[in-house]
Amino acid sequence: MQLESMYQEIILDHYKNPHGRGLRDPFEAEVHHVNPTCGDEVTLRLHLEGETIADVSYEGMGCSISQASISAMYDLVLGKSVHEALAAGEDFVTLMQAKGDLTVAEKLEDTLEDAVAFAGVSKYPARIKCALMSWMALKDASARALSTQSTPALSATHPTAPTGGTA
Ligand code: ZN
Repeated sequence: MQLESMYQEIILDHYKNPHGRGLRDPFEAEVHHVNPTCGDEVTLRLHLEGETIADVSYEGMGCSISQASISAMYDLVLGKSVHEALAAGEDFVTLMQAKGDLTVAEKLEDTLEDAVAFAGVSKYPARIKCALMSWMALKDASARALSTQSTPALSATHPTAPTGGTA
């Protein structure tokens, strides 16, 4: 079918010419995720400016699905808020649960952009983890980056908090 071969081409293109690959500074969180069932690996750094994803840099190795998924994710989440990026991640999980149903892919086309090309992967349970690895790494890195960000903010507000009620 035409749509599926187009999807395969998108995946292959991201695999051959990965977008945003390489580890860069600055970053607030670095995580390393593996998918032992296939031997896929990714080291991912997240750089936030406020709530916005200013950079996602990465190195990885493994099958074409796992590596292309990181590249497609990079395109999708860059410049988005962490909240929006994680929402896209939820949509990607939905896509991976579609069992090859392309009507699910059609509905998610606008929100997932190139990442929708992984729709066909949902037919192969063994490969789903390959495609999901990058998104799990991003979720992990987001949680870590946000927790380091909130610490100085909290300590800054506490000492200056008005005591109130004494007047
Ligand atoms: Zn894999």
